[in-house]
Amino acid sequence: MAVRLVILDCDLTLWNHPNVTALARPLRRVATDAVEDQAGVRVTLFPGVHRTLEGLRQRGLIVACASWNEPEPVEEIFTLLDLGRYFDHRKVEPHPHKDRTIRALLDELRGRGTALEPDQVLYVDDRRLHLEAVRAAVGGIRFLQYGVDIRALDELLSYLDSRGPAAQAQA
Ligand SMILES: [Mg+2]
Repeated sequence: MAVRLVILDCDLTLWNHPNVTALARPLRRVATDAVEDQAGVRVTLFPGVHRTLEGLRQRGLIVACASWNEPEPVEEIFTLLDLGRYFDHRKVEPHPHKDRTIRALLDELRGRGTALEPDQVLYVDDRRLHLEAVRAAVGGIRFLQYGVDIRALDELLSYLDSRGPAAQAQA
């Protein structure tokens, strides 16, 4: 079945910082694709983030993030860099149990009438750490490891399109 939901990790998947919870807030925008914290630590979006998120929206996909962070710094970056509008669901929770996070997301969607099969879900993360637990919790969802399976975020669009636009349109 075609992908209907894309779940994106944040740290080292959308931007080049491993743990934005550690930043000294408030943050400030220093470029169209970068923020800095109070100590001058800079967080820069990886190339193609806006283009990829826009492409996911254009394809009619449900877009969510699942991040192991305190919500505030992620929200601040989303606001400063105008990313928030791309996400239908934001799951930013200060624990490493992405199996719980993703299961709760899928349960919420089901509760609203969108019951997804595992292969309709694509999860993108720079670490494989959580994958086994996630698949044990919600079934065999698709997974792409950022930096390994895809080298740039917009390869995600190629991945989806290579499954065929007709297949995607049926979703
Ligand atoms: Mg990460």
